[in-house]
Amino acid sequence: MPFFDLNQAQLLELLKDQPTYRVKQVWQGVYEGLERPHEITSLPKSLRERMGQEMDFALSLNPVDRVAADDRRTIKVLWGLADGRQVESVLMAYSDRVTLCVSSQAGCAMGCVFCATGQAGFFRHLTKGEILEQVFHASVLSKRGFGQRLSNLVFMGMGEPMANYENVVAAIRSIVNDFGVSARHITLSTVGIIPGIRRLAEEELPISLAVSIHAANDEKRTRLVPMNARYPLDDLVEALTYYRSRSNRRISFEWAMMAGINDGLQDAIELAALAKRVGAHVNLIPLNPTPGWDYPGSAPEVVREFRDQLTDSGINATIRANRGNQIAAACGQLQTQFSRRARISDRTDTQDLFRLV
Ligand code: SF4
Repeated sequence: MPFFDLNQAQLLELLKDQPTYRVKQVWQGVYEGLERPHEITSLPKSLRERMGQEMDFALSLNPVDRVAADDRRTIKVLWGLADGRQVESVLMAYSDRVTLCVSSQAGCAMGCVFCATGQAGFFRHLTKGEILEQVFHASVLSKRGFGQRLSNLVFMGMGEPMANYENVVAAIRSIVNDFGVSARHITLSTVGIIPGIRRLAEEELPISLAVSIHAANDEKRTRLVPMNARYPLDDLVEALTYYRSRSNRRISFEWAMMAGINDGLQDAIELAALAKRVGAHVNLIPLNPTPGWDYPGSAPEVVREFRDQLTDSGINATIRANRGNQIAAACGQLQTQFSRRARISDRTDTQDLFRLV
């Protein structure tokens, strides 16, 4: 079993001939020291060798390709999974934090019309281990490459995290308890799967929720985000209000700005009214060009005007600097591009990632 699918009890069982403190040493060596079990030099050589042979550590994800932005502070990695499927992670370093955008599924069944991943369809859920392994590699890269600790996580990569609820929540618990990332620095992004939002409200995990809204009336939203037909806005508002009351965490609305589609005055009026009902902060994201979707992102002046309309209505709204634009970081885009360029076969070693920073 891959290391990151193990919990501590399972590792204890695997190493039951070893004293408990040794197992703790392995656990801490991986999660705190960010070393692979067979590299933890404080362990006896025989145990290291055994772990190297018996555990397929870090073999769940292989870096297939990677792209760094010019400033070397944004890195996107396309990971090959053991069954040949692919997912991506994006690491973004800022002066005060390092954020990882993590994938939760290979593909996505939500079918948002403007999204490259949605167009490619759903393949499978990621395991807890595959999610955690993205965090492990990012932590190593962040520490060695940027000299900073991985501090923030956003579930905004490929997939709808609420559709893979069990594995995502198990991974989040481990990210908090084992990797030591504060729950308050973790954001889960959803199209608005209501049963998941209500369930998450009961978990006592004070993470932030970001909801991909993109349109603030049911008719338009169902066209852009088909899941809206199942979970319409009034019901969504109710679920979000409940989440907010239970977790005490702020809700944010994500709004991908698409020229001529959702960037008009009426859109701003409707969005302001909706955001008021939930007390939501609004993030405006100029849409990256998406293959198969004909509408470009809104022009910068249109985005600014839209933001001003929201703030004039008393809504807290920000324009998100689209870090990934230069390296095609909209969800699913790297994967799509590499597929088209047929570069899937030239695998690289994890160590190779460090040459990027
Ligand atoms: S935008 Fe997110 S939820 Fe929608 S299809 Fe893409 S990955 Fe899935």
